[in-house]
Parts: sequence; structure tokens; C-alpha cells
Amino acid sequence: MPETSIRLKVCSGCKKEIPRQDCHRNRYGEYICRACQAAGFKFTWRHLLAQHFKTGFRKYVLWVAYLVLGILAVAVFFIVLDRFSSAPAPTEQQ
Ligand SMILES: [Zn+2]
Repeated sequence: MPETSIRLKVCSGCKKEIPRQDCHRNRYGEYICRACQAAGFKFTWRHLLAQHFKTGFRKYVLWVAYLVLGILAVAVFFIVLDRFSSAPAPTEQQ
């Protein structure tokens, strides 16, 4: 069995392969090596924008879902109201 305790990760700052224990994982799931951390590198803008887009899109979908549910509720209300308020249709026509 080969030694698998050293797992290499790619640093998001310098794109170098570094052992897992020598790098930091930020909230966006990016690995940053000690040298990049010391230089003040915390995350890439690409990941930050992707994160914002993802959450923004989710909010938009939720908003549309609420809107559709609201329209459906109003439509069902008027259909039911129409059913109960209108006179029964003539059934026997001769
Ligand atoms: Zn680095």
C-alpha cells in the first residue's frame, strides 16, 4: 500500500501543489498555502462572484415560486367563488 497520508491540494493563489496540512481552507472551499496567506491572499474573486451569483439566483427562484403560488391561490379562490356563487347550470333542456 502506498503512503496516502500526504494529500496534495492546489493553492488558489499560486496554483502550486501543497500538502493538506500546510494550507488553509477558506469558506469558499479554496486551499491557500502559507506563503499566499502571509501575502494577504484570502480568496479569489471568481469564487466570491460565483458564491454571490448562486445565492442571488436561489433568492430569485424562491421569489418566483412565491409569486406563482400567490397567483395560483388567487386563481383557485376565484374559481371556487365562481362555482358557489353562480346559479347551477341547466341540466335538462328539452
Ligand atoms: Zn499559494
